[in-house]
Amino acid sequence: MHVETVGDGTPELAVVACLHGNELCGKTAIERVLAENPDFHRPVRFVVANEEAIVNNVRSIDEDLNRAFPGDQEGETHESRLAAELLPLVRDCSLLDLHSTRSHPEPFALVAQLNDRTEQLARATGVSRVVDVSYIAGGLIDHVDGVAVECGLRGTKRAGENAERVLRNFLGEMDAVDTLSDASDPELYRIFDVVEGTGYDFVGENFVRVEVGEPFARKNGEERRAERAFYPVLMSTNGYEEILGFQAERVGKL
Ligand SMILES: [Zn+2]
Repeated sequence: MHVETVGDGTPELAVVACLHGNELCGKTAIERVLAENPDFHRPVRFVVANEEAIVNNVRSIDEDLNRAFPGDQEGETHESRLAAELLPLVRDCSLLDLHSTRSHPEPFALVAQLNDRTEQLARATGVSRVVDVSYIAGGLIDHVDGVAVECGLRGTKRAGENAERVLRNFLGEMDAVDTLSDASDPELYRIFDVVEGTGYDFVGENFVRVEVGEPFARKNGEERRAERAFYPVLMSTNGYEEILGFQAERVGKL
């Protein structure tokens, strides 16, 4: 784990990248921002989490780090021990957690506990969509007041650029650095179900409504049709091993 704390005093903001070792966009963004040596008005802690997974170009070594919190110092897995080491470093901070995905090229934010603080953090990212992921338990943002951002398609240049834009906007809006920034007025979605299954081709588009009876996935001529209308979120052909992704409803403005 690589930790860099900037500014004076106890960190109030934390930025975490590479909870998943093959999602490098956040690491790229942090490196670009810190290379400019900006003046930090508030103390910020930057963490590049799973360096062992990065070196091996894999999501994780033993288990998903973002499902390993709070972790255990004496844990059996690399990620369990890493989670126990990481959590105290960011627990009292407002957190930005940067990821990338197989599902959607535009950045969107994930919030696990919707409250005034996380709402402010979500707006500070500047993204136009926020997803309430409280249906999916167990990520780092379940343990810390924070927002995760899926910055774009994993491994693409654009995801790195998006991550950099999100990070700069966040640091600006949170008064950590002087930079041009704008809080967003995002649309809120809420995940209400998971779509299980392997080997399906996803034929819809994320954040585009699937009407009742409309097909959204195919496998060997078999079609999956919507039993109720929904918005696909984190849904892709190759994103997960055992699920196709999630179904969400559109709530309205955050
Ligand atoms: Zn991730």
